[in-house]
Amino acid sequence: MIRQSELVEEVKSYDPAVDEDALNRAYVFAMQAHGNQKRASGDPYISHPLEVAGILIKYRLDSSSIITALLHDTVEDTLTTSEEIRDEFGEEIMLLVDGVTKLTQIELQSTGSDQAENFRKLVLAMSEDIRVLLVKLADRLHNMRTLNFIAKHEKRRRIATETMEIYAPLAERIGMQEFKSELEDLAFAELNPEARESITSRLKFLRSEGKDNVDIIVTELKETLEDQTIKAEVYGREKLPYSIWIKSQKKNISFEQVSDIIAFRIIVDTVEECYRALGIIHGNYMMVPGRFKDYISTPKLNGYQSLHTGIIGPERQRIEVQIRARRMHETAEMGVAAHWQYKQNTDPKSGRQYRWMRELLDIMEQAAGPEDFLEHTKLEMFPDQVFSFTPKGEVVAMPSGATAIDFAYAVHSEIGDTCVGAKINGRHMPLRTTLENGDQIEIITSVAQTPSPTWENFASTAKARASIRRFIRLRKREEYCNLGESILKRGFQKEGYEFAEKAFEGILTIFNVETIDDLFAEVGAGQLTGREVIEAIFPGTKKKSHRSKVVRLFRRRNIKKVHPELNSSIPIKGLIPGMALHFAGCCHALPGDRIVGIITKGRGITIHTIDCETLKEFADTPERWLDVSWEDDASNERRVGRIMIVVANEPGALGELSTMIAKNDGNINNLKITNRSLDFFDITVDIEVHDIKHLRNIIAALRASPVIKKVERARG
Ligand code: MN
Repeated sequence: MIRQSELVEEVKSYDPAVDEDALNRAYVFAMQAHGNQKRASGDPYISHPLEVAGILIKYRLDSSSIITALLHDTVEDTLTTSEEIRDEFGEEIMLLVDGVTKLTQIELQSTGSDQAENFRKLVLAMSEDIRVLLVKLADRLHNMRTLNFIAKHEKRRRIATETMEIYAPLAERIGMQEFKSELEDLAFAELNPEARESITSRLKFLRSEGKDNVDIIVTELKETLEDQTIKAEVYGREKLPYSIWIKSQKKNISFEQVSDIIAFRIIVDTVEECYRALGIIHGNYMMVPGRFKDYISTPKLNGYQSLHTGIIGPERQRIEVQIRARRMHETAEMGVAAHWQYKQNTDPKSGRQYRWMRELLDIMEQAAGPEDFLEHTKLEMFPDQVFSFTPKGEVVAMPSGATAIDFAYAVHSEIGDTCVGAKINGRHMPLRTTLENGDQIEIITSVAQTPSPTWENFASTAKARASIRRFIRLRKREEYCNLGESILKRGFQKEGYEFAEKAFEGILTIFNVETIDDLFAEVGAGQLTGREVIEAIFPGTKKKSHRSKVVRLFRRRNIKKVHPELNSSIPIKGLIPGMALHFAGCCHALPGDRIVGIITKGRGITIHTIDCETLKEFADTPERWLDVSWEDDASNERRVGRIMIVVANEPGALGELSTMIAKNDGNINNLKITNRSLDFFDITVDIEVHDIKHLRNIIAALRASPVIKKVERARG
């Protein structure tokens, strides 16, 4: 526990102008307010605000933030009032403490509009003053570090889930990379302890094998640069288990190389030196294709800048290298906190200067309801972006995972509403295609086109989804209107009257609607029967035979509208009724995969995964492509996924393989050894799984095993 004098000294060391007196008073105030309250760990409560202050001191935050950290639980957990805080420490500190208290009171629940509403409040509270969020994140970090003292399993789980879903992404959004990684890893330990354990034991093994010869690599990189007169700081940093886990799920990497564990960093003085250093590194070592990224010329949303590359480094190992200038490095490590060190007079209310926060506030104002808002913003929280280009070369930035349909809507909502297809880098591709950095996209439009409800399944930006939904709402209403009108026309005819819209004007108030169209829509949607309306206009017309006909007419038509695919038992949307369906043997599509249907005359529809190599054969015949997608709740039926594995040829290896698959709830359906050498087996395994997520889990678990050298999904 940090002592009072140490705390003051440390703040003084980076901020000579600190108000020592206020810091001392805050320390004593918190100490007295918490009295002999205890933490779940049994420690005196005051240890918690002190640790939180300590975390922020590492980031050299201003003394108001440190004082707020010391006081952050006094209003929430003791008899202290915010007026007392104002009297003792002034208006600014009171507002900061109140902000943190508000965030603490926001109990994020697991589902529904409460969570959404709370999240909305959270964004509002932190947009007032970004320091509120910094203190809250430090508070959460210390609570996560001491999570194991909480006895109730459910409570631990709830806190960990909230940390993973809300606080870690927020930390990343304001550029606090270290915060984010530690929060995620602590939450991972609670949410998936077995997975984390398998990663850490594998790390231990690799270290014991001497595969982490970091020092040798660091020295050689440094010398290589010095030979060309670049003075650089070089170091290697071990990644946390959670980021290794995520990576081994996402990419086809076998988890055994140093590049999977250590990220090497080269810190130089200027931007120019970054590019020179890159040139020298690429000139001296072989480059791994596809790994180079220039985040200096296109920084990430949170301001992160660096050059990333992959090389076959010293010791002939594949390594990952990040090159950045010192200034970028501090921003990368400290995020928003770095501002205080350079600009003394940075406005802490700069929350509003963050583009993403402004966007959140915008979406908040436009969203139809709180659920809508949460859904949109959760998607927008993911920090990675994909940059694509219009045919004229204008850049369009969207969250990664965005598809061609998102692009169309990003350019203009009218283009979105009328698009029929997309050419990506000159080739016809389905609208559901996920965009890659640098793609050039031409959207093909037609005035005859209108948005399709299935687009919503693969639109991922808030803008596209909102536009598609609005259109569908409008169109549904139009259909109901027309249906209602024709029901009423028939009713008039049967009664022997001429149909005239004027007739309805007098009865609108009876049904509590504003316009005649509203009335038609209610009849069309079945909220009113045609009979009720006709009786209101012509009182006393009660012939039973007519009534039943009108009702029957309505019912029959309505059923047809509501269930267009009534006879489909296959969990795929967008099929053509009556056409045969089969799954291609080349790619073994699973629920969760993005899929596309290819129409073959006389053979029906074949389902491929969107990245299947076979699709290249159909690039020139876009008319055969059919946009299809999985039903949201595809039945619990299992489907076969195929993976390829390279296993060490040693006793027990095959046993371990099948045990691990079984342990992760996969059924082996078929197993074929395709190649056998002295050291290794190549094996193809068909596994029955629920969906793609399930298969990815199994792949990640296998990659963590020492006898398994390589695992990937089979293609072709
Ligand atoms: Mn606290």
